[in-house]
Amino acid sequence: MTGVSPAVLAFVLVFAGLFGLVIGSFLNVVIYRVPAGIPLTRESRCPHCDEPVRPVENIPVVSWLVLRGRCAGCKAPISARYPIVELATALAFVGITWYFVATATLDSTGAVWSLVLTVAAFLYLASISIALTLIDLDTHRLPNAIVLPAYAVGAVLLVAASVLVGDLDALVRAAIGMAALYAFYFILRFVRPDGMGGGDVKLAGVLGLYLGWLGWGALVVGAFGAFLLGGIFGIGLLITRRAGRKTAIPFGPWMILGAWVGVFGGESLSRWYLGLFITA
Ligand SMILES: [Zn+2]
Repeated sequence: MTGVSPAVLAFVLVFAGLFGLVIGSFLNVVIYRVPAGIPLTRESRCPHCDEPVRPVENIPVVSWLVLRGRCAGCKAPISARYPIVELATALAFVGITWYFVATATLDSTGAVWSLVLTVAAFLYLASISIALTLIDLDTHRLPNAIVLPAYAVGAVLLVAASVLVGDLDALVRAAIGMAALYAFYFILRFVRPDGMGGGDVKLAGVLGLYLGWLGWGALVVGAFGAFLLGGIFGIGLLITRRAGRKTAIPFGPWMILGAWVGVFGGESLSRWYLGLFITA
């Protein structure tokens, strides 16, 4: 059994963090522009004075700190959300890379490439998770332009990762997870059309694909984690009277948060739970 040496792991994690800062910077653009229908290729301008953002003012986190959160031209405040999204993406990328790389067994070239594709698949899921969470909170929508391509990107990366190591069970689970979670949310939306959006149903299939690929425990914990976390939060809002019974809280962020609990803790949580009943 060969793993990754500590020096290589450290190098990979530093790279993942820097890559996360750059992707986080891009996600800020996605979060602002996709719901507004503005092309992603247009150059960035200050929304206040329309001055173009120079490349030196576009360095993740650093530029915001140097400019003290204000536009270099008109001194209008720039939201702290920009550097926070960049930092959160960097942290997510480091955590995900560490989680998959530190525990990997690299006994063949196929296993190395499988690991690279697995990490790529989950960094992609993290990126759309961050973008969709903020877009859903801002606009109560989960844009098709982000959710639908995730089926293709996720499937290609995960299928390739499995085929390289001959793990075809993972692909069967992924297909079942995708179909089951999509169908479950489709029925929920049918029963309570005001409670779920069509975007939630489409996102459910993507999350089911990833969770099923990881394992049955990840799928079950990831799927029900959304309702548990969302339910606890909703009850908390009612108790503190911050929300009435009809306050619309988007469900997408809970689906995403629940899914990540499933990704990181699903397998160990389900083993622990089953262990309560099966004493060997
Ligand atoms: Zn300005």
